[in-house]
Amino acid sequence: MGKAFERRYAVGIAVLIAAYWLVPRGLAQNVLQLLTELSALAVLGLAAGRNRPARTAWAFVGLGAGLIFAGDIGQLVYEITGDPVPYPSVEDAGYLLGNLALAVGLALLHIKRPRDLAGALDTAVVTVAGGLLFWFTLVRDLTDVTSAAGITTLGYPLTNMLLLALAVGLLTSPADVADPLVARWLSLAVAGHLIGDMLYGINDGAVTIQDRVTMIPYFVMYLGFAGAGLSAARTPAAQTGARSGHGMSAGRLLGMYAALMVIPGLLLTDHVRHHALDQVPLAIASTLLSLLVPARMWLAMRQLEASTQQRDAFREDLAHQAAHDALTDLPNRAYLMETLAALMHRARRSGEEVALLFVDLDYFKRVNDQLGHAAGDEVLRTTAERMKSVLRAGDVVGRQGGDEFVVLIDPVPSPAELMDIAERLVTIVSAPILTAAGKAQVGASVGIALARDGQTDPEQLLQDADLAAYRAKSNGRGRAEIFDQALRTELEARAKLEAEIRHGLATDQFELHYQPVMSVATGQLRSYEALIRWRHPERGMVPPNDFIPTAEESLLICEIGRWVLRRATRQLAEWTQADPEGHGDITMAVNISARHLASRSLVDEVRQALHDSGLEASRLVLEITETVLLDEPTADAHLRDLRTLGVTVSLDDFGTGYTSIGQLQKLQVDTLKIDQSFLRSDDPATQALVQLMVTAAHAFNLDVVAEGVETQEQLDRLVAIGCELAQGYYLGRPKAAQDTTITTAL
Ligand code: C2E
Ligand code: CA
Ligand code: CA
Repeated sequence: MGKAFERRYAVGIAVLIAAYWLVPRGLAQNVLQLLTELSALAVLGLAAGRNRPARTAWAFVGLGAGLIFAGDIGQLVYEITGDPVPYPSVEDAGYLLGNLALAVGLALLHIKRPRDLAGALDTAVVTVAGGLLFWFTLVRDLTDVTSAAGITTLGYPLTNMLLLALAVGLLTSPADVADPLVARWLSLAVAGHLIGDMLYGINDGAVTIQDRVTMIPYFVMYLGFAGAGLSAARTPAAQTGARSGHGMSAGRLLGMYAALMVIPGLLLTDHVRHHALDQVPLAIASTLLSLLVPARMWLAMRQLEASTQQRDAFREDLAHQAAHDALTDLPNRAYLMETLAALMHRARRSGEEVALLFVDLDYFKRVNDQLGHAAGDEVLRTTAERMKSVLRAGDVVGRQGGDEFVVLIDPVPSPAELMDIAERLVTIVSAPILTAAGKAQVGASVGIALARDGQTDPEQLLQDADLAAYRAKSNGRGRAEIFDQALRTELEARAKLEAEIRHGLATDQFELHYQPVMSVATGQLRSYEALIRWRHPERGMVPPNDFIPTAEESLLICEIGRWVLRRATRQLAEWTQADPEGHGDITMAVNISARHLASRSLVDEVRQALHDSGLEASRLVLEITETVLLDEPTADAHLRDLRTLGVTVSLDDFGTGYTSIGQLQKLQVDTLKIDQSFLRSDDPATQALVQLMVTAAHAFNLDVVAEGVETQEQLDRLVAIGCELAQGYYLGRPKAAQDTTITTAL
């Protein structure tokens, strides 16, 4: 209903009322009154049509107003004809029936919510008690209640009281039961109606409807109906589903108590006044009440129960939300940590193990980048579902955050089975996922961490699993790695060693020893190999095999390499300066690790070391191992650059790796160093192999150094097969710089 219509309607009804007041007494006035009434009726009809949830209620209100209208027409007819008005007349029937219909309408508005059983029961209790009261106060003493006049006389106060009670009830109803605006308009209508009837009664029917002052309350009634109809047509009772506390309020309890006290009260007054007891109505009323009151109590209990359940469900909901990830509905990090802590606590007492799988998705970022975040969300949800499907009932899978999931395995099976579970997870997660944006595929790297005897704390275990997952990722993704106590110990030792190496570099604990490389034919010194030593303050001299592998796991090896490069080039430059004759053309070999060779900065560092020391590039040899040529794609380019500088490259430990002799031709190397193991063997086949290597190297224009010469026989053999350079304890051990002298004679 539009505001414009309401405004036009208000103007219309105001014009009607004004005209009623202005026209002279007579038929015109009566017609105007009836028109006003009719317009109110029309709006009530509109409300009945529009207000779906309370359609019946409004139909009854409209019917009530219509019957009153009919009564008014009846009265008008009597006035026009001038006939004496009988009692009761047709108009009385219209008014009384109208009141009843109105009462039904109002009552229906009260309980328009289909499940407001409590309200209906309360009304019934009060009605039974009120009915009994009426019976005792009015009806019983009426001499001729059965006559039409008797019923009519009784009918007016009875129906009016009922209307008043209902109007008050509506006014005090919570907003979700009755629209406050509608309740106010209706109450206004009822009030106008009651006051009008009262004035009429006081004048004992002596006034006609043409008496304008007496008519004022009735016009108020028309206005009230019109307003109520308009409001009801406007508000489509959207609040029907709303909840209101309909337990037993103090007011309701009081009302019920008063209703119940009616019976003893009546018995007492009758006893005092020596009246004969009216047993039948008392018996009927008390039977009804003893049915209604327990029913009402039962209802209150049930409502209380329902609201308790509702509150519990609400609390459960909240708890669930706090412990779960909104996207996947999996347990969240906080909940996982709590569960993990509980598991570990139990494990500490029982000596059981606790196993944790850290599942890190591979290529998830690519899904987000290429298919969008919605697809990413879908992938996470599907992944969550899939993971649940391959786990057992006791296992818990949760979302750690981002594309990381955590699985708690309980009870813990054997490590092999754990690996099985992890692989199953990898397989199921790696299956393509059809999202709305297209096909997505991710993988998973799984880290497994096991806690035995509850020795670690939850955070640590999670970190271990994370680390294992990281290792799985760096070992090629789509796989699982186990992290256990042994690995942890190893890692801790490694971390400690790394710190010590760093400290050693900073405090100058490292030094270089130099081992000579001789010409087999002449016994002349041709080169030195710089070999690092660590003068550890507690452990004494530490050989490189004890710390170089650890340094190679991180960028530490590059720092070491830089230091060796600088120190070795400077050393040779110094020796050359001190003895240009003896050292003028010997070279210095420095070992370079794979990671260092792969690093972008190596070429610059070599150039810098040469520059700083003033050593010619041709006098520096870089020893590299075969594996680096296979593993590091950048190594080849770096070697090329280094050789362009004029630096010589030597392939160390040759024969232990995978390089075939045929490949030698293509490699960026100048020298071959045959691994010590070949010299040590007396096996004729091995010796033949050495011969083959030397011949091949020469064919490709490479120099050959034989490593690990410890005896004269070995040296003789080298002479025999034509190997021109040798290195070994027999020729000279690695020595500190100050102990190094030029060895020429064998
Ligand atoms: P490598 O490069 O093969 O060095 C030769 C190793 O053999 C040296 O061990 C040397 O002392 C030893 N050696 C030499 N002649 C003989 C012999 O006749 N018999 C026996 N049994 N051994 C002999 P060292 O100094 O302990 O070095 C071990 C490894 O540590 C080296 O093997 C090299 O791979 C690495 N290394 C040493 N210094 C450095 C360095 O400054 N940087 C890097 N990255 N690695 C280094
Ligand atoms: Ca070497
Ligand atoms: Ca070697």
